[in-house]
Amino acid sequence: MTMPAIRVRAVTKNYGALTALAGVDLEIEQGEFFGLLGPNGAGKTTLISALAGLVRPDSGVLEIMGHDVVSDYREARRNLGVVPQELVFDPFFSVRELLRIQSGYFGIRNNDDWIDEVLARLDLSHKAGANMRTLSGGMKRRVLVAQALVHRPPVIVLDEPTAGVDVELRQGLWQFVRELNRDGHTIVLTTHYLEEAETLCGRIAMLKAGKLVALDTTDNLLRRFATHSLRVNVE
Ligand code: ATP
Repeated sequence: MTMPAIRVRAVTKNYGALTALAGVDLEIEQGEFFGLLGPNGAGKTTLISALAGLVRPDSGVLEIMGHDVVSDYREARRNLGVVPQELVFDPFFSVRELLRIQSGYFGIRNNDDWIDEVLARLDLSHKAGANMRTLSGGMKRRVLVAQALVHRPPVIVLDEPTAGVDVELRQGLWQFVRELNRDGHTIVLTTHYLEEAETLCGRIAMLKAGKLVALDTTDNLLRRFATHSLRVNVE
């Protein structure tokens, strides 16, 4: 059996009296397009932050491509690309400078050929020299995706990448992420939009109040719940 892309075992995270993750177990296979659904506050971002090493769990184990996120952080992080929810950038850098800095963070020098390819695939070549503060929200969102790809990670996690994005850009982003999946990348996507998960994801996990309340193939989940009740569960 091949090693899973992501392994989460008995992960718990409390913020004071608030339990954000309550003993989550999850395995995502290499090459999957996996959806993480749940209402506001369900724990999706906390789980992603824990995978990215930004939040330390109180207990449990997280692994990316077999590397423990706590004890083998560098290797785990090298295997993971994260597209965060927030559009936070240093406004004084150009797009290319930002992507070079991100490459440097992973110890990669002379990454311009790959940066150019990623920018072209995201239809951002014409903005390579532009200052971040001059970009539209949709362009910034695509720069976030480019940033996640500079070190060519096999596993890519996207935290609500289409929140506040218009229909055209949303479809463009999905097409791009689909291509990444076809190229062999494992994709994990958090979303509030059931239609999105339905169209894109082979399996879905549902989090509610920090607990995994459902985990199955998209087809089985849709069969198990009437579409209406599935909607109620995720919204
Ligand atoms: P959304 O869909 O709104 O982004 P989510 O499923 O991503 O929600 P999280 O952001 O993981 O949920 O939050 C889970 C719970 O943990 C929430 O109740 C949130 O208020 C709380 N929480 C998250 N980060 C912190 C923090 N740094 N300090 C205190 N509480 C936090």
